[in-house]
Order: sequence, then C-alpha cells, then structure tokens
Amino acid sequence: LHNTIQELKGNIRVFCRVRPVVRSESASKAELTTALIKYPDQEGREIEFSHTTETATGSQIGKTYPFTFDKVFQESSTQDDVFEEISQLVQSALDGYNVCIFAYGQTGSGKTHTMEGPLNADAKSMGMIPRSVMQIYENAKALESKGWVYTMEGQYVEIYNESINDLLGNDGLESGKKHEIRHGPNGKTTITDITTVVLTSPEKVAALLKRAAHNRSVGSTQMNERSSRSHCVFTLRLSGNNTITEESSEGVLNLIDLAGSERLSQSGATGDRLKETQAINKSLSSLGDVIYAISNKDPHIPYRNSKLTYLLQNSLGGNSKTLMFVNISPLMSNFNETLCSLRFATKVNAC
Ligand code: ADP
Ligand code: MG
Repeated sequence: LHNTIQELKGNIRVFCRVRPVVRSESASKAELTTALIKYPDQEGREIEFSHTTETATGSQIGKTYPFTFDKVFQESSTQDDVFEEISQLVQSALDGYNVCIFAYGQTGSGKTHTMEGPLNADAKSMGMIPRSVMQIYENAKALESKGWVYTMEGQYVEIYNESINDLLGNDGLESGKKHEIRHGPNGKTTITDITTVVLTSPEKVAALLKRAAHNRSVGSTQMNERSSRSHCVFTLRLSGNNTITEESSEGVLNLIDLAGSERLSQSGATGDRLKETQAINKSLSSLGDVIYAISNKDPHIPYRNSKLTYLLQNSLGGNSKTLMFVNISPLMSNFNETLCSLRFATKVNAC
C-alpha cells in the first residue's frame, strides 16, 4: 500500500518530527508523555499515539491513533539526522528545480528550531536554513572546476494578515511600504521593493538570520507572539551559468516557517485577533487545498486564495518538489492539537 501512496502523491513528501520535552517542562508532565507515543515499525515511518480515558463507571478505555509518513523523527533526532534526509532535495535546487520545504505545527512544536535553529547556534544545533545555504555554497564552489558560476540571492519575508513585510529591510516591519507579488513570463516570481542579499559566503546567512530576528522583535513586545501569527518565507534564488558549455540553470529553494496551526481550531476570537485568526486559517487551509489539488492532479490549482500560495505558485506543482515537516509536541496537554496537525499532514500526505 505504501508504494501505491508514494507513486500517487508524486513529488510531495511529509516528515513528522516530535520535539523533546524541554527543560522548563520536565518538572511537570514529562512521564505522562513518554508512554503515549510509540514508533511501531523498523523503517521509521510510523507513529502511534495512545490515549486512555475513564468512563462514567470508572473503567478505562484505551484508544490508539496510528499515522504513517515518509519519515518520522523521534524526540532524540538531531539536526544532523534531519538534514541528512533533506540534503538531496536541497541539492536539486542547484540542479535547477524549484523546491519548497514547510514547517507546519502548533506554536511551541519546534518549527523554528527545525528551520532556523537557535540564534547563535553552533554547528550541531544549526537549523535547516543555514545548513542548506552552506551545502549549496560548498557544492556550487565544487562545480566551478566544471565551468559553473553561480549567484545566490537570499530574501526573507513575513506574511502577516495577508500582507508582505520585508524581514531584511533597514526601516523595520512597519515601514509602510507595500510589497506586491509579480509573476514574470519566464516563471520568475519577484516581490516589489524587497531587500535582496547576495550571499557571497556562508557566514552571511548567520548575519541575515540575525537581522530578520531583530526586525521581528522590534515593534512587537514578544517575538514569539508575532512569529506564531505570521508565516516566514526564506527564499534562495540560484542562477548558474556554465562558461564552458554555455548551459544555464535557475533554481529556487524556499524554506517556510508557517504560522502556528492552533488557530485552525480556535473560536471565540474578536476584533484584531479575529482578523488574524481568519487570515491564518485561510492561508493554512489554502495551502492544504493547493497541495491536495496538486497531488490529485486537478486541472485547476487554487493558488490565488491566499498570499502564501500565490507567492509560492511557481514553486508548488509542475516540476517542483515539496516537503512538509509536521512538527509536534510530546506533551499530553497538547494532545488535541497534535492530533489536528497529524490529520492535516495525513490529508496532505495520503492523497
Ligand atoms: P515553534 O517555532 O513551533 O513555535 P520552537 O521551535 O520555538 O517552536 O520550539 C519551542 C521550544 O522547544 C524552544 O525552546 C525550542 O528551543 C525547543 N525545541 C524545539 N524542538 C527542539 C528539538 N528538536 N530539540 C531541542 N529543543 C527543541
Ligand atoms: Mg516559531
């Protein structure tokens, strides 16, 4: 059955990553959580949650929730383990493919840890964005002997309430500038008035991530609050020309840290919060719809239903490659959200 699923869904893969219990939590509910999650198979594709409830008469009813993905990373998985599984995909951007890698999950599930890694990370804890840039940089260098000359340009934007903010701008997120998405006839997507950084060395990416984090923290008292309500899209554009064979290649790598998915199931918000909630719900469900339509080979793909899918239009579907991480928490207190995330990811995965 799995092979059938693999074939049907073509270029879309889903990886599940369970984050460990973090220090601040370990005093409270840690033991409850370990008994809850099982990894039944040898290949590392299955994850099973079990959950015991008490009936009115006091008897215990156990329920299990099994899920299968292309890969499941357990709590103990390292950033190295995760990168090893995506490095081929990252490489294909250098070969001229358009690639999207998403992190989906509730706030606190490990999306930013996976994508960016901690600020001032060492080589071990670095996230997928800096690792990808470094690998591409090294591979591009190695190709120089074969005549290839590459330029690498990075952009980092935030989509908040269906509008785009420049995370690398000098005048902060509330600069008042309006950024529009343009799709050129050559299949190239640009954003008006956006900062583009030419990445001449891997060190530049650390500076770039710092600048983005600084911009995100200015103007909002709690950085985490803001990042849970917006999507962050890091884009690396790779143009290669071969001076010997005169071949050329254009690839794009997008790494996307999505807004917290918890709002999909939240109700009762009012005012500004309601507007935010609606924007997040709309874009996350549009993303699910687009991926679903692509896997289903629908003739019409509804890219225009949200800024996120419209921005990524040229990197989703067609010849491009997509990977989604579904990040989940091991805590019993997050169980309902975890189930929602796994179900969303399964819809994306199994179609
Ligand atoms: P999100 O971006 O989904 O809101 P974070 O990436 O900020 O979640 O993770 C929440 C907390 O858990 C942070 O303190 C982070 O450092 C920690 N964390 C997440 N994933 C891991 C991991 N794989 N290993 C160690 N700590 C992690
Ligand atoms: Mg985050």
